[in-house]
Amino acid sequence: MPPDRLKNHIGGNWIDPENSGCLDVENPTTGEVIARVPLSTADETGRAIGAARSAFPGWRVTPVARRCGLLFKLADLLRKNEEQLTRLITQENGKSLPDSRAEVKRALENTEVACGMPVLGQGDKLIGGAVGIDGEVIRLPLGPFGMIGPFNFPLMVPFWFFPYALAAGNTYVVKPSEQVPLSMTRVAELIEEARFPPGVFNLVHGDRTAAEAIVESPDVAGVSFVGTSRVCRLIATRCAQTNKRCQALGSAKNHLVAMPDAKMEPMIQNMITSCYGCAGQRCMASSAIVCVGDRVYDEVTRRFVEASGEVLVADPLDPAVADETMVMGPVISAKARRFIIEMIQAGIDEGATLALDGRGLVMPNRPRGHFLGPTVFTDVKPGMKIHNTEIFGPVVVILKAGSLDEAIGIVNNHQYGNGASIYTQNGHYARRFKLEAECGMIGINIGIPAPVASLPFGGMRNSLFAHIKGQGRAVINFFTEQKTITERYWEE
Ligand code: NAD
Repeated sequence: MPPDRLKNHIGGNWIDPENSGCLDVENPTTGEVIARVPLSTADETGRAIGAARSAFPGWRVTPVARRCGLLFKLADLLRKNEEQLTRLITQENGKSLPDSRAEVKRALENTEVACGMPVLGQGDKLIGGAVGIDGEVIRLPLGPFGMIGPFNFPLMVPFWFFPYALAAGNTYVVKPSEQVPLSMTRVAELIEEARFPPGVFNLVHGDRTAAEAIVESPDVAGVSFVGTSRVCRLIATRCAQTNKRCQALGSAKNHLVAMPDAKMEPMIQNMITSCYGCAGQRCMASSAIVCVGDRVYDEVTRRFVEASGEVLVADPLDPAVADETMVMGPVISAKARRFIIEMIQAGIDEGATLALDGRGLVMPNRPRGHFLGPTVFTDVKPGMKIHNTEIFGPVVVILKAGSLDEAIGIVNNHQYGNGASIYTQNGHYARRFKLEAECGMIGINIGIPAPVASLPFGGMRNSLFAHIKGQGRAVINFFTEQKTITERYWEE
């Protein structure tokens, strides 16, 4: 029996897409086909947008506390289904159970922050802007918004956006990554169980055809996209041409800077978690270490290579490792694995030293899984292909800098500016780094500086094609029109 073909959730109904092909959804750990995902056509996607448009007039006038009441119900259902969602993420993505659990918790946290909309969504009033004249700013919802998701956080990333959009009175269409469609399908079921009115939230499965239909639709007020910077640029360009709001969060190469005064032992452990958690496929994963000075370079290299060799690589659903905090599963697909291997060869060809080679890893119990072992390059120079490229796998490059200035230069000259961290006990170094490193998210002795839900998430330079980042208070500006009213009344 072939596994089930997933359905779209449109206007409150589960609909079998017509006339569309489908792809196999694979468990990257076992190679087993666990579902088939339909590739919705532009027309089918248009029906989801139509449902969101029809639901908008009723939803926008639903009192904000009632809208948030439904989100509270959703939060409750996420909590009740936490373990099931956790396992679903691990099944479709291959990350460890603790990583999947953290993903569900962050989704929940975003839902709860969005429930603050009765306060967050308030406007402003200026009494006496001119003689007898007052100014008022009100926030209004705009209509249907769309979200196009990446494979690496199948569940959490859509929650950076849609709870805020719904709380603000907009309606929504999500297109998850075709590689990991299962967890958002389960979320759509929970949204149905929470009894959101039909059409307020819609789910469409598919690939770039469905994504493009969202971007091109004149009925969509704005698009939140998360994925590679190449696609960010395409989407941001089309949104500008069609006068849509757009926030597009893109690729990364996050640097960790080790200063001479850093605490060596906890720093190495922290670096290992940052570089190899989710097999290096977090948008906040670090993959470039910059050591300041010869002594730090020699010691970090020795210790990091040794610790990398000890990382536990395993089937994340194996009960024997289920409670380990640091387990590395497979990368997402055979295609991704091939690309990573090509990049390792590129590093060898351009003269970096392959200090640890993960290509030979054998997993006798999981021969069809897309596993690779931790891989480390030393003697890497800024500008080498393995430094310039987002490899998105368990491959780490180590560079040397002569000073903090040079280290900041390496970070700032990179095409991507998502996150960067410094390890130091020195407040002066830390302050300079947080002010001068041109990245959207900075860590100080924190290897994965992913902000909590109430703070903005997003990078700088080629990692972000937007003015407004995901989650946090600022995202309210993306999902509302600020209308400014200037008023006066003449005396009777
Ligand atoms: P991707 O760009 O390949 O795909 C993302 C989504 O775009 C998918 O839903 C896909 O169907 C769709 N898509 C693909 N081509 C398209 C096109 N031409 N037009 C319209 N839509 C298209 O990204 P991915 O491989 O799924 O995700 C990994 C990437 O996402 C990495 O680069 C990672 O750094 C990035 N990411 C960034 C952040 C961040 O916060 N900056 C967060 C998570 C992931």
